[in-house]
Amino acid sequence: MGKTLAKRTNAETDKIGRIKVDPQLTIAGHPDIYVVGDLALSLDSNGKPLPGLAQVAIQGGTYGAKAIVLKLQDKKEISPFTYFDKGSLAVIGRWSAVANVFGFHLSGLPAWLVWVFIHLMYIVQFQSRILVFIQWAFEDLTFNLGARLITWTAATDFNFNKELSSVVSKSGASDNVVLKA
Ligand SMILES: Cc1cc2nc3c(=O)[nH]c(=O)nc-3n(C[C@H](O)[C@H](O)[C@H](O)COP(=O)(O)OP(=O)(O)OC[C@H]3O[C@@H](n4cnc5c(N)ncnc54)[C@H](O)[C@@H]3O)c2cc1C
Repeated sequence: MGKTLAKRTNAETDKIGRIKVDPQLTIAGHPDIYVVGDLALSLDSNGKPLPGLAQVAIQGGTYGAKAIVLKLQDKKEISPFTYFDKGSLAVIGRWSAVANVFGFHLSGLPAWLVWVFIHLMYIVQFQSRILVFIQWAFEDLTFNLGARLITWTAATDFNFNKELSSVVSKSGASDNVVLKA
């Protein structure tokens, strides 16, 4: 989608395909096309790219929605987007996290509790918060690794050419086989 959008709007992209946006989060020359979140290459006040974080996406989405409403109401455009950095949180183990929130640094269980509380609060609908909380508690208490991101070889990592060539070399029929990805 990013590639198609960039091609059709002649937008500039960076090496990972993010679309360069102006301070209003719109594509240059296309003031009605807003790009927010991971797809957008937006810069902070120092000209540094904003990180690919949920907060950047949430704040960008809110800004874009407000800007569209104001445009539809024929009101003057809102001021450029500014990202408000609320800090960083990362889970580093079971019931353990590190947190840097509004200048306060926490680690271990207290940081993990902050992580849980903040993430639950950002989930829409009260019912979903309760369901997610029960699911997380169950997965943590039963040591279910699915609650954490521990990955191994996925089905998509299957290397067709490698597998086929090993089968072919075992069968000794390599001269008659053309490998295509
Ligand atoms: C493993 C991992 C861990 C992360 N951990 C953190 C963290 O701890 N803290 C943090 O702040 N951020 C974290 N992030 C980053 C965070 O998830 C992203 O910055 C955020 O989700 C970006 O939001 P978004 O709305 O731009 O994109 P997404 O959340 O990716 O949403 C894009 C949506 O668009 C859909 N979509 C894609 N193409 C199409 C299409 N052609 N048509 C229709 N729908 C489409 C996708 O299915 C998806 O639902 C993590 C990311 C990853 C991958």
